[in-house]
Amino acid sequence: MQLTIKQMLDGLDKGDFSASELTQSALDNAEQAKKLNIYSYIAEDSARKNASQSDERRKTGKAGKIDGIPLAHKDLFAINGMDTQAASKILSGFKPPYTATVIDRLEQAGSITIGKLNQDEFAMGSANKNSCYGNVANPWRANGNHAISSDTDLIPGGSSGGSSASVAMRAIPAATGSDTGGSIRQPAALTGTVGIKPTYGRCSRYGMVAFASSLDQASILARTVWDGALLLEIMCGHDARDMTTSRKAVPNFHGAFGQSIKGLKIGVAQEYFPDNLDGEIKQNCQQAQELLQQAGAEIVPISLKMTEYALPAYYVIAPAEASGNLSRYDGVRYGHRTADDVDTLDEMYRKTRAEGFGDEVKRRILIGTYVLSAGYYDAYFLKAQKVRRLILQDFGQAFTQCDVILAPTTPNAAEPIATFGLDPVQAYLSDIFTVPASMAGLPALSVPSGLNQDGLPLGVQFIGQHFDEPRLLQVADIFESEIGFTAQPQGIICRKGLSADGE
Ligand code: GLN
Repeated sequence: MQLTIKQMLDGLDKGDFSASELTQSALDNAEQAKKLNIYSYIAEDSARKNASQSDERRKTGKAGKIDGIPLAHKDLFAINGMDTQAASKILSGFKPPYTATVIDRLEQAGSITIGKLNQDEFAMGSANKNSCYGNVANPWRANGNHAISSDTDLIPGGSSGGSSASVAMRAIPAATGSDTGGSIRQPAALTGTVGIKPTYGRCSRYGMVAFASSLDQASILARTVWDGALLLEIMCGHDARDMTTSRKAVPNFHGAFGQSIKGLKIGVAQEYFPDNLDGEIKQNCQQAQELLQQAGAEIVPISLKMTEYALPAYYVIAPAEASGNLSRYDGVRYGHRTADDVDTLDEMYRKTRAEGFGDEVKRRILIGTYVLSAGYYDAYFLKAQKVRRLILQDFGQAFTQCDVILAPTTPNAAEPIATFGLDPVQAYLSDIFTVPASMAGLPALSVPSGLNQDGLPLGVQFIGQHFDEPRLLQVADIFESEIGFTAQPQGIICRKGLSADGE
């Protein structure tokens, strides 16, 4: 599927193809995507049925904003009657009797759900290696000219690894994901796709399996900023079923597209460019700055002193919240229960949780329980909360000097699956540049910004002010058109599409 959503909507309007044809093509692609272990569930029958209803609506002039557009959703979004496990064995067999608000809004606008996408278990991870379905491979391969051989399987990033890989291989034009500390932006950067996280409170978390509730946000991975903005705007807005959603009106996310960025101030903080940062990443961001300057923006040096403390504080707060959220999986209310004979209720809980959770999830529960325990609460959890407040203040100060901040998305490009994260602390460092915006609840996104020497995609990150998505998206859109990133994965890719010439 080489077409973007914008092009698909145009083609549907003109009658070049039908929603049923698009859906069939997305279902064929989902089969191909099995080679990379992308889908956890394919909703063949309901997708076909919904597509033919979409065709009817278009015929009678009742088409919604994205009627007939095929989408796929990260496994952690509840969809009525559809397997929803957040890639955890502990939720095996769980079919929710309701649909997550953000998915419901996309479906109400006419999108066709093709299926559920693989991810890291409970969204904990940066490589999609922590999944009960097995890992996902990145459709990108190294060019073999440099450090990595061209037949090495690479990580697609995580935790939204199925989402990033499916969009990168053109199996689907866009996919939902969730971002707690970088799980949309980091996989987007590693797969040459666009990944957006909105302001905390823009998107409802109702029906999204919880990881760390004060950080979790639903959002989108797409091929273009325009497509991402379209879908995100549909997903956003107050929801009476999630009291943390904002009542602020959702503006037109395309509102500032096409307007010049002349005079706009782009902040660059030296703390995001430490001495030991990979030279190619540094150079890539430098090039991004130059492009934006040519487009009329002003580059302003800023300082974000708390940056180095964001990651350690995140790895206290996120596990603490996770340990509470995951206490509900007890073998009684959902999914898996131990088949062993047990004498006591406690033993049943223990065995169920020991069997049902993977290693990384157990590690987080242990850390989270520890930092919340009576003797350590003040030293770790409370301290981390204070650091979080200082990070927020840091950004507040920076935004008195600039409109949008530019930073790397990741410290490096996609790494081999086999060697990534053998040391868990090393794996946590993948989030070093994405976590600060999450801690401050700021909107942020990653846009493809070029290839490294291995021929692998890199991304730059833009961070905006609270509820200022239109400005953030405007800058990203201009950057995207200036950089003109057209490279495609050399590995498996769905070439069959439905362009007007039948390609
Ligand atoms: N990789 C980070 C973690 O493992 C972020 C995950 C996320 O954003 N869901 O916690």
